[in-house]
Amino acid sequence: MANIRKNTGATHLLPLLLAAALTTKALASQSEVPADAETHGSPATNTLTVSAGDTLESLLDQAGLSPELRREATLAIEAHYDVTKLSPGQTLRFYWHPFSSPRLERIEMTVEGGAKIAIDFSDTVTARRLEPELENYDRTAIGRIDGSLYDTLAKLDAPQRFAVDLPEMLGNLVAFNRDLRGGEPIALVWREQQSPDGVRMGDQLLRYVRLELTDRVLEIVLDADEATAALIYQNGKPVRRLAKPVTGARLSSVFGKRLHPVFGTMRMHTGVDYAASRGTPVRATSSGRIAFMGRLRGYGRVVDIDHGNGTITRYAHLAGFAAELATGRSVIAGSVIGRVGASGTATGPNLHYEVRLDGQPVDPLSSSREIASKDRQPNDDDRNKLQTYRFLFPTLLADSEMG
Ligand SMILES: [Zn+2]
Repeated sequence: MANIRKNTGATHLLPLLLAAALTTKALASQSEVPADAETHGSPATNTLTVSAGDTLESLLDQAGLSPELRREATLAIEAHYDVTKLSPGQTLRFYWHPFSSPRLERIEMTVEGGAKIAIDFSDTVTARRLEPELENYDRTAIGRIDGSLYDTLAKLDAPQRFAVDLPEMLGNLVAFNRDLRGGEPIALVWREQQSPDGVRMGDQLLRYVRLELTDRVLEIVLDADEATAALIYQNGKPVRRLAKPVTGARLSSVFGKRLHPVFGTMRMHTGVDYAASRGTPVRATSSGRIAFMGRLRGYGRVVDIDHGNGTITRYAHLAGFAAELATGRSVIAGSVIGRVGASGTATGPNLHYEVRLDGQPVDPLSSSREIASKDRQPNDDDRNKLQTYRFLFPTLLADSEMG
């Protein structure tokens, strides 16, 4: 397990914060020369950490601010922040002019969600709120399959929702519950966003997966936004390019016999359902040609895409179709074809996604036939990405030392 992180300064800040927490009381009597001052041209700084019982007033006093400056600073802060909400762990960082006798230039106070209130002391005292600058981190995890995919990801501290994505993408290449016996090496790269104080925010986006089975190595390289497409390689050869029909959606119903949510009887569910909010873009999962678009009984508004080789994908309950869509048109993996809706027989907005082989619905998550994808040849961008990720895992994981 390793993190690839851009240097943000957040790591070198931590010791200072810890030091400040330990020296808060000591500082009260020596604010003229802050204990952890850095005095090489840039402003000297020291940090106070809020402890139980502290008030803004008491902290500014500890820092050595005159009553007048304390009053002005408090007024400026109050315009942006309810100071009665000050709670242990928040920090106030003081920036002092490096040359003249200690003169305060700026205070930065951490508030919720990684944001800060910055108070500048020039002719007038002004405060403004600084929203956190989210940093993208590519994180990696290496391990072995141990129990279910879900369990494995949990042990690797990787997002567990990838346990839904992987079988979906590798559907016809690996039967996760049959082919995996445990111990297979797996490596993942995903992107996540963090605020400067290390709080994970936003979505985690899968970028690369390598899964090594006894007889073959599978790799998935995903596009930047995870929406357009993923290219899947088997033993280094591209075998499939596909996209998710909807992103950020929850698989709400699987293929097979089920108690029908509307009719209340046992019926065959001929596809999988993704619960998603109305209007979410629906994308072609693989390249093909629009074979049908229109209304079809309980399916409501439907798009059928013919991928050749007797394979059709169906997207149902749509709220509407993409403007430029027309029967006979070609689409590629990731093309937007419509929007999630609840047309036809549906309890709420969801995408019903179906794969049909020679007219028969099959389980989209484990269909055995390759959906023909003519656009599966890697372009330069694909090749560059693959090289980049392979650079992170230069040897077969099975041959390398894994923790
Ligand atoms: Zn359905």
